[in-house]
Amino acid sequence: MHSIKKIICLNLLTILTMSGVIIGFIVGITLINVRGESFTSREISYVYFIGDIFLRILKALILPLIISSLISAIGSLDLQLSAKIGGRAIIYYIITTIIAVILGIILVQTIKPGKINFNDHINSNNDSEAISNKKRNITTTDTLLDLIKNMFPPNLIQACTKQYQTVLKPPKNFTTDLLKWKVTGEFVDGMNILGLVVASITFGIALSSVKTEAQTLINVFNEMSKIMMKITCWVIWLSPVGVIFLICSKVIELESLDDLFGKLGLFFITVAGGILFHGFVILPLIFFVLTRKNPYKFIANMSQAMATAFGTASSSATLPVTINCLEDKNNIDSRVARFVLPIGATINMDGTALYEAVAALFIAQIRDVDLTFGSIIAVSITATAASIGAAGIPQAGLVTMVMVLDTIGLPAEDISLVIAVDWLLDRIRTVVNVLGDSFGAGIVSFLSQNELNNNEIKSNRNINENSNNKNQSRTMLIENENDSTIVSEYL
Ligand code: ASP
Repeated sequence: MHSIKKIICLNLLTILTMSGVIIGFIVGITLINVRGESFTSREISYVYFIGDIFLRILKALILPLIISSLISAIGSLDLQLSAKIGGRAIIYYIITTIIAVILGIILVQTIKPGKINFNDHINSNNDSEAISNKKRNITTTDTLLDLIKNMFPPNLIQACTKQYQTVLKPPKNFTTDLLKWKVTGEFVDGMNILGLVVASITFGIALSSVKTEAQTLINVFNEMSKIMMKITCWVIWLSPVGVIFLICSKVIELESLDDLFGKLGLFFITVAGGILFHGFVILPLIFFVLTRKNPYKFIANMSQAMATAFGTASSSATLPVTINCLEDKNNIDSRVARFVLPIGATINMDGTALYEAVAALFIAQIRDVDLTFGSIIAVSITATAASIGAAGIPQAGLVTMVMVLDTIGLPAEDISLVIAVDWLLDRIRTVVNVLGDSFGAGIVSFLSQNELNNNEIKSNRNINENSNNKNQSRTMLIENENDSTIVSEYL
C-alpha cells in the first residue's frame, strides 16, 4: 500500500499530464455536443489562451537551452569522443528513419486505404484557405538546397527569429513549369533551429579544442544549461493544465470527427498503427537488443515528455521536458542527452517520415497513379529527406510533404485530401518522434559509457594538473618577488 502511494506521488505529474490529454478531449467533445453549432474563432482563442501561455513559455526555453546544452556537452567532451557520439547518433537516426519509411510503405501498399471510394471526398474537400497556407510553389531541389542553406545562417542573431526560404516568381510569359521561374529568396518568421544547432556544435568543438584555456567559458555554458533545466522543472508543472487547454481548443476547432471514422478512417488507422508499431515495438526492440535493458520501463519514464509532445504537437517545444525525463528518470548521461537530443529534435523524425511516405502513396492510390518500383524508392528517399527538413513544429510534416508529392508528379493541392486528420496524426507522430530521439540518446549513452568514464577521469586529471600548475606559478611568484613581470606570464 505504502509503495503504491509512493509510486503515485513520484509520478503524480505524469499522471496529471496524461489525464490532461484525456480531459482535454472529453471537455472538447462535450462542448461541441452541448453547443450544437461551431465555435467562433474568438471563442476558440479564449479556450486556447492558457495553452498558448504554456506553449510560449516552452518555446522561450528552446533557444537558450539548445545553445547552452550543445556547447556545454561538446565543450566538455574531447573531440574524438564527440565525433564518436555524434556519429553513433547519426547512424541510429538514419537506420531508424529508413525502417519507419519501409514499414509505412509496406503497410500502405498492403492495406491500400486509398482504393476505397473517394469521389465525394475529392469533390467536397476544398479547404482552400488551409491549403493555400501550406502550399508553396517550389521544387524538391529548392527545398533540399534551402535545408542546406539554413544550416549556414549568415547572421546568427537573425537565425534566432528567421529562416531562409526560396521563392519562385513566374516569368512575364506565364508558364506552369517551375523550373523556368525566377529564383529569389526571402527570410521568413521562425527560428532557424538547424542553423543554431550547427553553429553551437562548431562553437562547442572550438571550445573543446582549446579546453584548458577556455575552462571558464565551458563552465559558464554548463551553468547556463543547468539553470535552463531548473526553469524547465518549474515549467513542467504547468503541463497538465496547458495540455487540457491545448487539446480542448483543437477539438472545438473541428467541424466534425466524421473524417476520423469515415472515409479517412482507414488511412488514419494505417498511419497511426504504423507509427505506434514503430514507436512501441520496433524501437523498443532495437533498444533491447543493443542495451539489454527493459525498453518499456524506459518508455514509462518518458511519459511526461510523450504527453507534452501530444499536447503541443512540437518536438522542439517538448525538448526541455524530454531532456529532463531522460536525465532525471532514465539516468542518461547528461553530456549525451544534451548533445544528441537537440540534434535529434531537429532532424530525427521517424513518425513524420512514415507519415509522409504513407500519405503520398495513399494520395497516389486515390488518384489512380500507378507507381513503379523506382518511384516507390524515390518516395522513400524524399520522405526521409522531408522528415529531416521538417521543423519540430506543429504540422511541419504536412508542409514538407509537398516535396514527396512532387517526386511522383502529384500537385501540392492534394494535401487537402489528408488535411482533415492531420491535426491528430501530427500529435501521434510527434510522440514517436520524441520517443525515437530518446531511445537514440539511451542507446548512444549505453554504447559510449566506457569512453565517457575515461573522458571524465581525463578531464578531472587535467583540471587537477591545471590547478597544480597555477599553484606552482604562484609559488614562483612568491619566490621571485623582485622579478614579478617575468613570472606573471605563468599565471
Ligand atoms: N509536429 C512534428 C514534430 O514536431 C513534425 C511534423 O509535423 O511531423 O515533431
